Amino acid sequence: MPVMEKKDGVEISNPYEIVQKLMEEATDTLGLPDSFYQILKKPKRVLKTSIPVRMDNGEVKEFEGMRSQHIDVLGPTKGGVRFHPDVNEDEVKALSIWMSLKAAILGIPYGGGKGGIIVNPKELSERELEELSRGFIRELEPIIGPEKDIPAPDVNTTPEIMGWMLDEFSRLKGKNVPGMITGKPIILGGSQGRVEATGRGVVFTIADAAKRLGMELEGMTAVIQGFGNVGSITAKLLSERGVKVMGITDAGGGVYNEDGLDIDQLMDYVKKEGTVAGFNNYDGLSNEELFSADCDILVPAALENQITSMTGPTIKAKIVAEAANGPTTPEGNEAMEENGVFIIPDILCNAGGVTVSYFEWVQNTMHYFWTEQEVNERLFTKMTNAFDDVYRMKQEKKVHMRDAAYLVGVGRLANAMRARGWIK
Ligand code: GLU
Repeated sequence: MPVMEKKDGVEISNPYEIVQKLMEEATDTLGLPDSFYQILKKPKRVLKTSIPVRMDNGEVKEFEGMRSQHIDVLGPTKGGVRFHPDVNEDEVKALSIWMSLKAAILGIPYGGGKGGIIVNPKELSERELEELSRGFIRELEPIIGPEKDIPAPDVNTTPEIMGWMLDEFSRLKGKNVPGMITGKPIILGGSQGRVEATGRGVVFTIADAAKRLGMELEGMTAVIQGFGNVGSITAKLLSERGVKVMGITDAGGGVYNEDGLDIDQLMDYVKKEGTVAGFNNYDGLSNEELFSADCDILVPAALENQITSMTGPTIKAKIVAEAANGPTTPEGNEAMEENGVFIIPDILCNAGGVTVSYFEWVQNTMHYFWTEQEVNERLFTKMTNAFDDVYRMKQEKKVHMRDAAYLVGVGRLANAMRARGWIK
């Protein structure tokens, strides 16, 4: 594998500025008034709070948490909560705007929200983590709820954490309120298929992209950055469809085998070891090697700022499926577009998660639950329709997929604002 040194001076882009620029361009292309962009460009509300937690050593420690609610023209705001040491206000604001765009593109009745706590959850005991999760909900209580703003899992947050959050909110309200959160355990009203939904949606969009490129999914090769919920499920479902997943990296290192990785075995290994590195004594793999790997499909499924002016030009994959939110900087994007890479943009590619969250919320409202097959079929219909809408826009305006996705999303938000009389 070719090795590329990551030099200093690689751009670290601010995701809030990136999303604003892309929305401004879409506003211009669609001939929408500046007053529209002024509403769109920032969240309606950002709550910042500190959450005191009594740690196992008896001392009280404060954690900084935040929740951004972008816009509610299509419905209540919706989006995950991430627990990560790098969480910051601009990131959370950008992530909430991306949620609005995802919901608009998928045609689901939500605005965008996102929350985060600055913490490395791996450094907390389970009791501390539960206290922190419950404390965050006590802080957010006035501004969340099934008709206001509905949290969900994101980076480092799990169904178990959603269960604690549901319990805390329900205690505060004096009644069970399952629709206040999604991605919760099935026993508490979670949906079949929600855990797998984001990865499943990623694979649906990859299959759609392959079809448009006249390629067969079966027999293609892939590499994946990240082996959390989204990366691991994407790897599993791709390999089930006959794609050879050759390389994976995560925070602890990487693994590469030209003949493909056995994803079920790898999942068991990661449960024990906490990283993909060292699996079966295969070769290691750095992120630089991953991005420049000879393969058909590259899936960034980790964090922002990964495909940059350094890694972007080295990409040989034909399809880049942005399973992460905001993995690509403008420079990285330009390099891929110049090289003719087919990019499935994040706001389309990873929207399967929020789509099944929407199904979960609908099921909570009905108190009636669908089978996994029903959920997956409905997800397939939603994702393929959204892919078709974006692809049609790409053809019509002769633009790349990312710009087309912004045109579809921004256009629908404008239609909703017009219908409400906010813009003429
Ligand atoms: N955190 C996921 C995302 O970024 C899912 C959000 C949700 O289910 O509401 O799309």
